[in-house]
Amino acid sequence: MECRICGAIHEHRTYTAKEMMLGLRDEHRYFECKQCGCLQIVTIPPDLARYYPENYYSYSDAAKAGNSLKKALMRLRDTWAATGTGQFGRLVNFFAPNAKLASLRPLKITKDTRILDIGCGTGHLLLSLYGAGFKNLLGIDPFNRENIAYSNGLRIEKRDIFSEQGQWDVVMFHHSFEHLPDQRATLQQAFNILKPGGVALVRIPTVSSFAWQHYGVHWVQLDAPRHLYLHSVKSMQVLAGKVGFTLEQTVYDSFALQFWGSEQYEQNIPLRDPRSYAESPKDSPFSPHKIRDFEARSRELNALNQGDQAAFYLRKPG
Ligand SMILES: [Zn+2]
Repeated sequence: MECRICGAIHEHRTYTAKEMMLGLRDEHRYFECKQCGCLQIVTIPPDLARYYPENYYSYSDAAKAGNSLKKALMRLRDTWAATGTGQFGRLVNFFAPNAKLASLRPLKITKDTRILDIGCGTGHLLLSLYGAGFKNLLGIDPFNRENIAYSNGLRIEKRDIFSEQGQWDVVMFHHSFEHLPDQRATLQQAFNILKPGGVALVRIPTVSSFAWQHYGVHWVQLDAPRHLYLHSVKSMQVLAGKVGFTLEQTVYDSFALQFWGSEQYEQNIPLRDPRSYAESPKDSPFSPHKIRDFEARSRELNALNQGDQAAFYLRKPG
């Protein structure tokens, strides 16, 4: 088998993983490249659409209604989370953090920064940024049902990255890149539409983690067959280098899901099962105390660069 990231041809080790988010439990084969470590699906299923039902999470619950005080607090928090300005927002962030926005802070963005979000679903993150005062934003997602025009002016367009021709300061993928069949062409296109010195932010699950080592095919973020590629830090370095990017920084940002989700899969409980913590915490196998313990262990793993997901910051030369 030939690795689709680094090209190494070996008898790579193979694994069989079941579809466990929806609970279909059909089996999918993956192999782990001996050279770069990327775990990848052997054959991309021709009928991937059937694994993305109408209520798939990225399609729902954008622009949740809330009272105006709450909205004002969230705006302060989001401004702090994205830019690091506003001390009161910092306080709000401490009690109700927004991890997606926190991943933007190393980019030192301002409200004029041009940001393109690829695979953004209904655009939850962009709405937060818009609410915090950012205006040069666009979201695209080819799997949305139609274009979305929010009343505040934010647009989400139904198309993929290959149709994009603009010039951007930041192009970001928040847990969408692992779903895309052609990793190199996608990252090359991100490179092409960035200004010199611009950054691609790629947040993905990673096999360079405790969870993959410990849970193996029960690892919740393997997410067969939707996740086509589970990169290692090394395979992201290889891919970035082939395209012309420099991998500038890697920040681990995993959370408790890696424990409770994977332990549920070990017990044959799908993510969408009524007994799942995601559906009904009180009917799940985990006490609130246990979940707090998982959160604490996740913070420890992140500090050790062993969490099960990370943000990769790829810089285009200036
Ligand atoms: Zn490889």
